[in-house]
Amino acid sequence: MEIETLGDAWNHSVRLTARCVWGNREGLKTVRECGNRYELDVYTMLWTRGRDFPLAMLSGRLRCPKCGSRRVAVGITMPGNAGAAAARAAR
Ligand SMILES: [Zn+2]
Repeated sequence: MEIETLGDAWNHSVRLTARCVWGNREGLKTVRECGNRYELDVYTMLWTRGRDFPLAMLSGRLRCPKCGSRRVAVGITMPGNAGAAAARAAR
């Protein structure tokens, strides 16, 4: 089973969680991490992006509302066995 698009995510009831990764190793400086996270509403994303929108491109369209960073990672959680089958979309 491959989850590649928003349509796939909806069909397989996976959960998408956006996570702000701002502050994770910013060059040599130490930057305070933001860590803001939010579970995305897959159905809303379907209406706004369309069912063929690739999940790999999702993180590039997101922006953290807390710190304004565009460095947002999207975690994919499969239904059922929590965590075990968790995969992460390309950043
Ligand atoms: Zn943030």
